[in-house]
Amino acid sequence: MKINLRSIRVRLCLWYVIFTLFWTLALGAFSYTYLAYALASSRKGTLVRRADRLTSFVNYRNTPDAQRFIFQDIQRYFLANPDSDIVEIDSSDGNLLYPAARLLDMSWPQGACSQPCFGMTHFKDHSYRTITTTGTFHGQPVIIHLGGSVDEHNNVLNVVLTSYIVFMPLLLVAAVAGGFGLSHRALAPVARITNAARNIDIRDLHHRLPVPDTGDELQDLAETWNQLLSRLDHAVDQLTQFTSDVSHDLRTSISVMLSTAELSLRRTRSVDKYQSSLSTIRLECLATTALLDDLLAAARADVSQHSIEFLPVNLKLIAAEAVSNIQSAATIKHLTIECNMDQDAWVHGDTSTLRRLVHILLDNAVKYTPDQGTIGISLRIDESGVSLQICDNGIGISCKDAPRIFDRFYRADSSRNRDQGGSGLGLAIAKWISETHSATLAYSPNQDGGSIFTVLFPAYAPETTLVL
Ligand code: ADP
Repeated sequence: MKINLRSIRVRLCLWYVIFTLFWTLALGAFSYTYLAYALASSRKGTLVRRADRLTSFVNYRNTPDAQRFIFQDIQRYFLANPDSDIVEIDSSDGNLLYPAARLLDMSWPQGACSQPCFGMTHFKDHSYRTITTTGTFHGQPVIIHLGGSVDEHNNVLNVVLTSYIVFMPLLLVAAVAGGFGLSHRALAPVARITNAARNIDIRDLHHRLPVPDTGDELQDLAETWNQLLSRLDHAVDQLTQFTSDVSHDLRTSISVMLSTAELSLRRTRSVDKYQSSLSTIRLECLATTALLDDLLAAARADVSQHSIEFLPVNLKLIAAEAVSNIQSAATIKHLTIECNMDQDAWVHGDTSTLRRLVHILLDNAVKYTPDQGTIGISLRIDESGVSLQICDNGIGISCKDAPRIFDRFYRADSSRNRDQGGSGLGLAIAKWISETHSATLAYSPNQDGGSIFTVLFPAYAPETTLVL
């Protein structure tokens, strides 16, 4: 089986195994070393105490001929203390005092030992910790060599080492199993999120991912995805609504044109009738063209800065041109347009998109202001920038609709009738145009009823000005 080392599960497991093994080995090495050190220290202490006891024992005899009994006293001591393993005692000039013959193959620590010298040696298949120290037996300086068996200690250390060697493979298996189990548990919420995400279909976006209550990045991730799903859900709802609205509008226009043409062609009619039919068809053509224009502009906004060319532009001329273009529509509804645009207002922008922006706002004002109403357009320049304001005393926008009017395809219910020809794209396009000009577009209700739309452009002072 091939192990995928890039998998988070495998990596988590490996880290867990490495961590567990490392610390178990470190703990094992430390305990073993410390135990060996403690046993060696204990044995050294025992040897020092034995040498002292021997010296005291031999010096205990308090008679003038005590020197003669040194050998016997040493012998008596070792007979009375059988735990002393091996011993050699030399006089200061190197002659053997005890035992009667040297222990062959026994090597004691070499060199002068002012302090007790410790060492290790082997004798007849046994290991010994040795001490060489000086002493005085009845005034005669002697060198005492003592050796204590460490076989038992070595046995204990071997048992400890063997238990580690046996335990390590078991620990390795347990660590791998534990690592897989832990990583599986840790990644279980991710698996649940993935399964839930797999089941979410574009037509069924109201489902949400399970949010694990972990208070960490995983919870953040699930919540962020859920927010994204909500936005997508909303966008898809809007798109579906829009598609059905646009289809309905286009279908209605085409039906009106078709039925008007068919009716006119059924028999010969007067010139007036033909003119009336053609003018109905023309109006429907205009509405359809406007709708297609909006769709095209919205699509272009998605591709962003398609062919935008930023130049110094006099907003006053653009606004005046837009007023003159909208004048005939306003006249049909007997609307009054009040202009307050005395001075030139230069901005850094793109002429054709700015024309569209002003047209959208004026067109809405005309569409949503009842007959005899008043529309105002004004330009103001101050240190904060150039502000273009278009106000009307029309039907206004309800508090419920106001936050959504800049959303694509959004049309307030009260204005959703095809006579006014709105696609719900105008303000979204106007907002996009404002943003590409680093301007802000805001709505506020008019005190006298109706609406006020304000576009605030950043202050701009052109070095060379081009007349529009
Ligand atoms: P539409 O093409 O439907 O006019 P817009 O995006 O231009 O789309 O406007 C969105 C909605 O905002 C409109 O449907 C309308 O309800 C509301 N609205 C826009 N301008 C005005 C206005 N001047 N007065 C009242 N309502 C407006």
